[in-house]
Amino acid sequence: MEASTQVVASVDALVFDCDGVLWKGESPIPGAVQLINRLQERGKRVFFLTNNSTKSRQMYGEKLRGLGFEARPEQVFGTAPCAALYLKQEARLQGSVYLIGGAALRGELQAQGIACTGSGPGPELTSEPMHVWLAEPLDPAVGAVLVGFDEHFTYMKLCRATRYLRNPACIFLATNTDTLLPLEGGGIPGTGCLVKAVEAAANRTAHVIGKPSTFMFECMVKEHGVDLNRTIMVGDRLDTDILMGSNCGLRTILTLTGVSTLEEVQADHLGAKAGIGLRILWGALLLLVVAAVIGVSAVGILNLRGNNRQVVQITFHDVQGAIISQSAVVNEEEDLVTYHIMDRNHTTVVLFDSKNGFVCYQPGGSNICLVRKMLAVDQENIHTVITAQEQKFNQLLLLRNETQFSRKYLGILSRNKVDPLTLGQHIDSLCNQIPVYWLQESNRPGRQRLIYFCIDICFPNNVCVSVCFYYLPD
Ligand SMILES: [Mg+2]
Repeated sequence: MEASTQVVASVDALVFDCDGVLWKGESPIPGAVQLINRLQERGKRVFFLTNNSTKSRQMYGEKLRGLGFEARPEQVFGTAPCAALYLKQEARLQGSVYLIGGAALRGELQAQGIACTGSGPGPELTSEPMHVWLAEPLDPAVGAVLVGFDEHFTYMKLCRATRYLRNPACIFLATNTDTLLPLEGGGIPGTGCLVKAVEAAANRTAHVIGKPSTFMFECMVKEHGVDLNRTIMVGDRLDTDILMGSNCGLRTILTLTGVSTLEEVQADHLGAKAGIGLRILWGALLLLVVAAVIGVSAVGILNLRGNNRQVVQITFHDVQGAIISQSAVVNEEEDLVTYHIMDRNHTTVVLFDSKNGFVCYQPGGSNICLVRKMLAVDQENIHTVITAQEQKFNQLLLLRNETQFSRKYLGILSRNKVDPLTLGQHIDSLCNQIPVYWLQESNRPGRQRLIYFCIDICFPNNVCVSVCFYYLPD
């Protein structure tokens, strides 16, 4: 079964971001209409979760249908209706709202019976002396400032919002913090830029309704009820869509059709962005162009041969982007797992000998063996691989977000030659006639070092395995 088919089979519901995933401006992303409609024909539940506050639920329903998507307004959760809902149900706002935002937000507030001022171009006093701005009367009924997308944002609006927010009892709410709104041929500054301006001026931090906050998703779950284990979040931004999906415990798919780029994902995998963590993002899903990144791009299969079975064969890109494939052969009787790691030029063999308590590397392209004692964590990982049932590995696949990369350095103690006969028969036969040296963990790369690179792969059944790769850098 293809990976994309497996993904679809493993879910009941898919939650899609809109801008940059389904469309850019007024143009649908190629394949998106067919994907959404086909998923629903197959009985999948589809929801739309958008940070964009410029449209009401009704308007989103109309836009979706206008572009050819099968969709009803009830499937849409946007920051405009959810912000109004938050003020009404969660914050239990008594007064009115000073709104930096457009007609859709105003309409959603009114639909919840919340009065507001401030929306629209409005008469501005920019020609008056500055002290007049400060004397301008404030509406005592205002109990909240709500910031959304506002094409009429002005310095005067910033002044008013700031003055309201001087009252600590005044609620400070923002629809979203996206700093870029993707459009055909580029993007324009998003609501996040306006939010940052008000935050800086008021010296306060807004409560945010949109992703990565989980509020909209919780509204969706409350209204429709979904099984989190059988739901996927599809988005184009790491810091909003993917982070929210991760915060909600969902599997996630990043499309490369909007804001986040492959380079950002790779940087993120190296831990550059705090909070998001490191995660596997999935490959092609039907017609939607989706990115497979760093992680496993082909997955493996059981292959029983006597006592040996090949449990997993995966192909992945290392941090430099080179393709590496690896397989593990398990010998249950001998408590032995042998990894073969193949890059363009070499095959490195890594042998985990649980009985004798050693890990031995025979790096491809070099005529040496390197050995270290097994740690408890190695024993645990190897034990998981050895005892894994066939079906576990057949459904393998990085269906969660917890895949992590880590790297450590092992220094080669070139003066500490070892007699392979003392290390057991398997290491002896692997290292027959070649020198064997001890390794020891090292804090930083040295001249002679072996890089140890691990991916923790978590399976759908919550079993996690560290798959480690070893190479001698050029
Ligand atoms: Mg988006």
